[in-house]
Amino acid sequence: MSLKTLASEPLIRVLVVEDDEGIAWPLRRGLSRSGYQVESVATAAGALAAAPADVVLLDLGLPDMDGLEVCRRLREYSDAAVIVVTARGAEGDRVAALDEGADDYLVKPFGLAELEARIRAVLRRVRPPGSTAYAAGPVVLDPRSRRVTVRGAEVALTPKEFDILECLIADTGRAVSRHELLTRVWDEHWYGPGRVLDVHIAALRRKLAVDGLIETVYGHGFRLDPGTGG
Ligand code: CA
Repeated sequence: MSLKTLASEPLIRVLVVEDDEGIAWPLRRGLSRSGYQVESVATAAGALAAAPADVVLLDLGLPDMDGLEVCRRLREYSDAAVIVVTARGAEGDRVAALDEGADDYLVKPFGLAELEARIRAVLRRVRPPGSTAYAAGPVVLDPRSRRVTVRGAEVALTPKEFDILECLIADTGRAVSRHELLTRVWDEHWYGPGRVLDVHIAALRRKLAVDGLIETVYGHGFRLDPGTGG
């Protein structure tokens, strides 16, 4: 088995459709740092010509076409989750966007942490039921119900412990860097002590009680060993 360094490997493809580079640039940077594969276009034509994405962040005020029309056309051939990102916050605008098939609506200005929470939420909704539970050895994590079981018995985790485990179990065998965990579970502005991650990992290990499940990758982060336990 090849040991790949996947800390920056894309998990979810995000297409940013935004003509204001002052908004597009921090979005690209923040989402990339959180492990998303980000493509960015500044026009409706670019959006409709772009490679398939899992999530489209769609500005309504585009130079060549109204964003609602882009949403309508995307819907004809794409099953990407569409989050409308706009300065237009009136109820009528939100209703129009949702009627055109948008999955969610975010009014500027917004924080990256909220955007990422919305992305996770729309992906939970659009992914077919039953395809989302992860298993590693005796541990099963269901993102939709946010329940974790070990050998069939439910284990109560805090939200942060759950999010850490989800990052690891969604891609077992991959060494996930401390930085990626901190940015995905906390947010990109987390500059607090990295010790907080170790405290949560220790609690997770204690609660799951599966020897060798969460491995420390020294100088890098953590890896979930899919072949453990039983
Ligand atoms: Ca715009």
